[in-house]
Formats: sequence, C-alpha cells, structure tokens
Amino acid sequence: MSERGVDLGRLAELEVEALNGVGPKKAKALAKADIANLLDLLTYYPRKYLDRTKEAKIVDLFEGEEASVLVTVNSSSSRRIRGGKVMVTSTVSDESGSLKLTFFNQAWRERQLCPGRQAVIFGKVELYRGQRQMTNPVVDLVGDKTGRIIPVYPQSDKSGLHSWDVAEWVAEILRRTVPPSGRGLVDPLPDYLLDEHDFITREAAFKGIHQPESLAEVAEARRRLVFDELFRLQLALVLRKRAIERTENGAAHVTDGPLLIGFTDRLPFELTRAQRRVIDEILADLAKPVPMHRLLQGDVGAGKTLVAVAAMLAAVDGGHQAALMAPTEVLAEQHYAGIRQLLEGMTVEDSTSLFSDRPLRVELLSNRVTAAERKRILSQLITGEVDMAIGTHALIQDNVMFSSLGVVVIDEQHRFGVEQRAALRERSYESASPDVLVMTATPIPRTAAMTVYGDLDVSVLDEMPPGRNPIETRRVRASGNLDQPAPGLDTAADLEAMWDEVRSEIDEGRQVYVVCPLIDESDKLDVASAEAVFDRLSGVELAEHRLGLLHGRLTPAEKDQTMDLFRSGHLDVLVATTVIEVGVDVPNATVMIILDAGRFGIAQLHQLRGRVGRGSHRSTCWLVGETTTEDGEARLQALVDSTDGFELAEVDLDLRGEGTILGERQKGRNDLRLASLRRDRTVVGEARQAAIDVVDADPTLDAHSGLAAELQLFLDQGDAEFLLKS
Ligand code: ADP
Ligand code: MG
Repeated sequence: MSERGVDLGRLAELEVEALNGVGPKKAKALAKADIANLLDLLTYYPRKYLDRTKEAKIVDLFEGEEASVLVTVNSSSSRRIRGGKVMVTSTVSDESGSLKLTFFNQAWRERQLCPGRQAVIFGKVELYRGQRQMTNPVVDLVGDKTGRIIPVYPQSDKSGLHSWDVAEWVAEILRRTVPPSGRGLVDPLPDYLLDEHDFITREAAFKGIHQPESLAEVAEARRRLVFDELFRLQLALVLRKRAIERTENGAAHVTDGPLLIGFTDRLPFELTRAQRRVIDEILADLAKPVPMHRLLQGDVGAGKTLVAVAAMLAAVDGGHQAALMAPTEVLAEQHYAGIRQLLEGMTVEDSTSLFSDRPLRVELLSNRVTAAERKRILSQLITGEVDMAIGTHALIQDNVMFSSLGVVVIDEQHRFGVEQRAALRERSYESASPDVLVMTATPIPRTAAMTVYGDLDVSVLDEMPPGRNPIETRRVRASGNLDQPAPGLDTAADLEAMWDEVRSEIDEGRQVYVVCPLIDESDKLDVASAEAVFDRLSGVELAEHRLGLLHGRLTPAEKDQTMDLFRSGHLDVLVATTVIEVGVDVPNATVMIILDAGRFGIAQLHQLRGRVGRGSHRSTCWLVGETTTEDGEARLQALVDSTDGFELAEVDLDLRGEGTILGERQKGRNDLRLASLRRDRTVVGEARQAAIDVVDADPTLDAHSGLAAELQLFLDQGDAEFLLKS
C-alpha cells in the first residue's frame, strides 16, 4: 500500500484532455460515452477479450467451420445489388493467406474496414471458387496490437470512439500512475481485508483488467474490482443505516404485555415456525430504544398480517398507538375488516379510570367514512383513545396527528426512504420516532435485498401456513384475445377445455378472476381491452354467469361496489386489469385466468396467481397466450414449475438481470460497472459483512480516510455529508 500515491479522487479531477492522445474531437466522442475524466476512463472496462493464442491462421481454415482470425485489411469496396441493397466486399489477409468478406446492407463497413486496419474476424468459412470467404462476419477492430490478450472496449463508430483509442489512453493513465514511472495508486482497503480475501492490489487490478497477460489475470482483477464496487455500495448503505439509528430515538416497547400474549393464545391455529421467528426478530427490535426499520418479505399467503398485528399490539401494550398503511382503499378496508375480527373483544387498560378496561379501538380512515366520522376519529387519535388506525398513505399526512405513534406497518410499499421516515416522526406528539415495519410480497433474492434495501434489516417469512392446497398452473397456448388461435396449435380445443373446467368450478360455487391483456403503459387501452374481454365473455363463454368488471378508470366507489359484490359471492367472475394484483383476498376464488400471460413479468404473474389458493379448495391458474421469445417461454415455464416466490425471484434475476431490481433506489455514481448482483451474489454478502465490520469499529470512518474519500467521490454530495457527519 503506497500511502503517498494517487487516489481515485485525483484521477477524477483530471479531464480527459490531460492525456496526450485526446484533443477536442476525441474528448467529444468520450463525452458521448459519459467519460469526462481519467477516473471515468479507468473504470471504462473492456466488454470482452480476444485471446489471440486461440486464433487460427487463414490457411488452416476449413469450409463450414466457425473461426476467428486476426487480419489486416487490404481493400474494401461497395456496390449496389438487386433491390437497391448495398454489398460491401473486403479482402483481408494474415501472413498465411487471404480471405474475402462480404457484407450485405452494411454500407458503413467500407469506411470501417479501410486498408491497413487490423481486425479480428469471426464467422463461418465458405469456399467460393476456391477462395475462402465469410458472409456478414463479426468484426472487432483492435488497432495495431501485439499483446496476447486484446481487450475490446465498448465502441461506437458513430461517435468515433474506438477500442484501440481507449486502450491507448488507458495505457497512458496506467503508465503515469503505476510505478516505476508513476507514483502508484492508493489502495484504501484495509490490509486485513486484502489478506482475508487474498486480493491483489488495486493497482494490479486496474492493470490486470486493462492489460492482462492471461485470462486468469483478468479473473483476479475482476474479483478485486467487483468487491470494491459492492463494498463501496454496502459501506454507504450501512453508514446510512447507522446514521439514522444515531439521529433517531425510539420507544423501548413492552414485548410481553397482555395484549400480545392474549392475541397469540386465542388464535385458532398455531403460528408457523417462520412466523414465530420473524415475530421474535421484530420484538427484539421493538424492545430497543432505537427505532426499527425492518423489511418483512413473505410470499403471498405466508401470513404477514399476523406478524403486523403482533408488532402493533406490542405498541398498544406499552400505551402507544399503531398505524397500518395499505397501498389502496380496497386493501385498507380488507385489512380493517380482518384485523377487527382478529382483535374482537380484546380490551386495554383505561388510563382515565383506575380499575376498568375499555375495548381496544381499531379505526379505519378511508375516503368512505363520512366527514363527521373522520373528524371524530382524528380528534381521538390525538387524545389517544384510538389504539390502531388503518388506512392508505393519507394516514400519515397533513392533518393527522397521533398522541403517541409507536409502530407503523406499511404494506406492499416498495419505496419508503429517509424522507418518509422524517414525515412519520412529525405525526406524533411524542418525540420518539415510531418503529417501522415495511412488508412486501414481492420477494427478491436475499443478496439483492441487501443492496436494494441495504439500509433496512430484512426478515423473511419463508414458510406457508399448513393446509394450503398448492395452486396448479397450466399453460394454454392461444392468443390472448381469445378468438384468434395461434397458428399451428390446437388452441381452440385447449381453450374450450379450459372454459369447461371454469364453468364447472362456478357450478360448484367457486369464483373466478380473469386478468386482461396488458396492452401497454396506457391506462386507456388497458381499459378498452378489459371492456372487450368482459363483453365477449358475457356474451359467449360465460353467458350463463354473473360477471363484474374492474379497472383503473372506475371511481373508487364503483370499484368498492364491484369488489363487495365479488367478495360477498354475488358475482361469479371478476374481469379485471392488474388492479387486483395486490393483496385482494377472496378465499372462495379458485380460478385465475391470465390472458396474454407472456406480456407479464414473473413477479407480476406470481402476484396475480397468489389471488387464488387462499381457501381450502383446490385452485388453478391458467396462463393463456403465446410467447415469441425464449425468455418469455422460460418465464411462463418457471411459473408452471414453481409456486415458491423466492425461487421465482432467482429465476427472474437470472432472466432479467439486476437493472430492473436496482431501479431508482440507486442514484448518483455508485452504479455497478463490473459487479452483477446475479453473477456476484456471494460477493454481495461478503461486502455487506465487511462493511458492517468496518463501520461498527469506526462509525465515521475516521481511521479509514481513504474509504471515506472514496465514498465522497462516488456518492452525491448530500448523501456523503449525511453519512459521514458525526
Ligand atoms: P399475506 O398477507 O402474507 O399474503 P395473510 O396474512 O393475508 O397473508 O394470510 C393469509 C391467510 O393465512 C389468512 O387467511 C390467515 O388467516 C391465514 N394464516 C396466517 N397464518 C396462519 C397460520 N399460522 N396457520 C394457519 N393459517 C394462517
Ligand atoms: Mg397481505
């Protein structure tokens, strides 16, 4: 470790024009690739490597064989052929012979393959009149290269950014920083971490990733740099978590009070082992004077509500209040009805009179309550007469004040950050911040959770209550709009069989959801499609039955009415857009039909499917539709193969990559350039642990100034200040 070397911050201060080979024109090309300074350039990593030891010589190529060869361009020309298309032909050669390349409709190849350029060509060899040739091969321009392993950088012909230029510039940076010609790069990682993980130095890693002697060297370099990226990210997350814990003080809740104990005693069933474990994790948090920030992940039907109620009762046991926020009115009402029932007849000590109890008060704040009632509830929240409030987001906004808000549960809310926590604190006359439990039924793999929700603790309900009937999932390969069978498949018969089964389920008293094709982002088209499906089914397949229609353009009152009719069994079939995705609970519904299922993602399909299988009857989910892509096929097959949300989440991560999961929680410069939450999942865990160790030993990174400086560099300003202030 060379203490007096260059750090990344210094490289970030130097603009690319500081390099000999970069003038205004090249600087512009670099800017298009978001490269402004030397740090950007040094972390612009090769997209792949050409291993020249594996290359063939032209003379050794056989007809019909795929091969890659390193060649020099002799000549290129283009001409028009039939249909107005352009054909470019190039002659290229190595020391053993020559090869003809033919490109159709790629006029720009003529300019790209100008005489004298070096390129690696990959394609299938053909013989034409005794001459070896390739048609539309893959071309990697490599410049004049002599190394054995050639890095290929992402390049763009349009903006004039070429791989060999990048390699050149990076070489200049390395020459000027790495000894013997340079001062060396600072390595901010503590020595014990370097030892523990057997890492090469950062200097060696940058050299190894840009100028490797072997692919094994690339792997070692990558291992180190991936760790650095994930470690920085985890450091920021752990620092944030600890900083919040320092700035907030919470109530130390009573976790063995009569309400909580009474509640578990009177349940008509045993808690699952997972529920008991998770409740213990939560109670341990609640008992501490530090506010809890915990994420509860549990598949649909895993029994998250009971866990939430247990947490809320702990608050009430200690004389505080609790709130539960649902994402929609419908869900708020459903929770209200369910929780009222669970807590029926329970009493709390009445603080206004010494020897009497009063009923536990649970109230619903929705837009269906009258203005007068709302006013009454609001004033009783202030006096503390209401123990639990259930509602939507409006519950913690504007004019709502609690006497002493102890626990807040947020159902199905993905975005809940620092600002929302601050808002929560203001809802209560008590100075203590409420403990927060965020619940989600969209499982994401543990390692991804550590990153996405890195400032929260995570609990997982990974066990289903007993006695569930697994949902059988079936595919029907037909087009989503019902009357256009996909060509080549006996879909008409499949669909008929499906409707037969559906009708007989209805005859047995069960209920059915039909989810309509997702047209696009446009609400309007989705509504139109739902209406069309509704009309069609009412007139043909389900003409004998009672159908309801639910979509986003209905007023809340209309939605409520339809939901009530369905819930109370006055409708057999609910035709809906994805508005039913979250949380709706009708145990008598046993059939879920998803039209044009190929358009939905795995998580969404799993959510939708979770609307059935909630009662004691056997349930079926039908995935109707064709997919045109391999991924689409894999998604639907995954649903057929598994009902385990966590397993599906892993498949999803494999298919889609992490970009979608990271989404908007990641901003600033802490993006992952090399690391992949998927490929590098074990490293995520290691980086998390390392970050916790470092932060807990040195909460403001005073003894780790190199790491602190780097965080400043990679995080946005406000974040860094917040995290590192003592
Ligand atoms: P989630 O919100 O996780 O999707 P819920 O809390 O709505 O799941 O629970 C789903 C159903 O399972 C509810 O009807 C609930 O009463 C029931 N349930 C929860 N826990 C248990 C248990 N331990 N044993 C039996 N049934 C349970
Ligand atoms: Mg729920």
